[in-house]
Amino acid sequence: MTSESWLDSVKSCLREVDESGRLFPNGKRIEVVFTIEAANLLLLRTEGPGDINEATLPETGLSVPIIQPQKLMAVVRRRTLQILRAHRDAGADLSKYIEQAADLGFVKAKTHLEKGWNCTIQPPLADKGGGEKLTDIGMDGYCPACAIFGAALTQAQFSVASGNMSIGIKTRVHFDPAFATARMIQPETHNKVTEGHISTTGGALFSEIHVMPGTIFIGRVVLNDVTEPELLATLYSLATIEEIGGRSGVYGTIRVRLLGVRCGNHSVSTALELADEIAGQGITKPSEIINHLKKKLQELGFTPLSNEDIIGRVDPSDPDGAIKDLWESSISYIKQLYKLITEELRGGGKQQQRRGKGSKSG
Ligand SMILES: [Zn+2]
Repeated sequence: MTSESWLDSVKSCLREVDESGRLFPNGKRIEVVFTIEAANLLLLRTEGPGDINEATLPETGLSVPIIQPQKLMAVVRRRTLQILRAHRDAGADLSKYIEQAADLGFVKAKTHLEKGWNCTIQPPLADKGGGEKLTDIGMDGYCPACAIFGAALTQAQFSVASGNMSIGIKTRVHFDPAFATARMIQPETHNKVTEGHISTTGGALFSEIHVMPGTIFIGRVVLNDVTEPELLATLYSLATIEEIGGRSGVYGTIRVRLLGVRCGNHSVSTALELADEIAGQGITKPSEIINHLKKKLQELGFTPLSNEDIIGRVDPSDPDGAIKDLWESSISYIKQLYKLITEELRGGGKQQQRRGKGSKSG
């Protein structure tokens, strides 16, 4: 088998870049199973110190640490943005895409024409009011990351949205929670470091629960209605994330391994079932877990997939290549969005004229 075979195996689930109707799901899905190995202590907290995300595996009854899907999603999206910036900084000519976005009414594209493209996720600090979250403020609403992972478009991003109207681009990437196959955790007591010659105890001590290095999490992601460049970029981002969780400057180093891919009208696995099965077999060695999973995935009809299969096809430092194709793909998607919304508004017939920030009555 050539290295082409995994991509061939999912061809019938991929959408064409210029295909019409890309905004409407065709019900097909690409299912990818991967592992996340803790290469350092991980801090997977939700509410603060002394807390950890855990779930009970239903068959074995074992309580294990989990990585929440929203956390995975945020880390992968951030990685996609880094890759897009690396491509921009490698000298890619994005002016064609930015101009098209500006023509469609994407507000930030007008600034990008002068200052260059950027799209950011802000930390969730507070609500700005009017339904717009501060997290959305840095988002442009038209780049590949926004087209793949979603965005909320208010008038601040998209001039087609009027008044209180917000247009949502939904994510086409859906993660399962990633389940550890064993419960290897350790509370750590930290002594807060103070500056100077005075050290304090008591209140300065705090305890946090860590997941131990060597812990293997089973992850699964489903991609709906993606094009080939979108699939490659998303899997490249997933395969090259290197940290997750709290205090990632000190903790949180991880390694992701892609294991298998499958195209179908329905899913045949869940991260929960796979983790539960491995926990039930009592397999704890990382290499044995991976071998067992590979066998299991082949039984389920997956095609083997490795990080190298993806990394060999995507090079962010190439100004052309796969990331340029990704821009083509997202602009085509955004154009379809624009067309659908403007036709819908026209078809509605209630707003005879909508120029600028016009009437509220619409
Ligand atoms: Zn964006």
